[in-house]
Amino acid sequence: MRFCSKCGGLMIPKKSEKKKRGITLKCRNCGKKVGSYAKDYNLKEKVEKNPQDDVIVMEKDISLETLPVTKIQCPKCEHTKAYWWIMQTRSGDEAPTRFYQCCKCGYKWREYQ
Ligand SMILES: [Zn+2]
Ligand SMILES: [Zn+2]
Repeated sequence: MRFCSKCGGLMIPKKSEKKKRGITLKCRNCGKKVGSYAKDYNLKEKVEKNPQDDVIVMEKDISLETLPVTKIQCPKCEHTKAYWWIMQTRSGDEAPTRFYQCCKCGYKWREYQ
């Protein structure tokens, strides 16, 4: 929300006729126009999420040699080291999940939050 610097009236965003992507703010009271706010003024509150962002890391054929190892106890054999990786679920509202695989017995589990 922006207000007119001249009269304090509410500025209404309008698409600029000159610049294709620009937005002009026009005062509802006095008609004062303020230039383009294409960069810092978004009419859309949310930026559309690119579906390509939901990349599934390590879906198949996990080569354990390349994975980092962390100190965590395996729920199965109680070994204290496991490989871990991040997997982004397809439903975008879920946070990426961390998975572990025991270095000793190969048991896989996910981190619940
Ligand atoms: Zn005004
Ligand atoms: Zn284990």
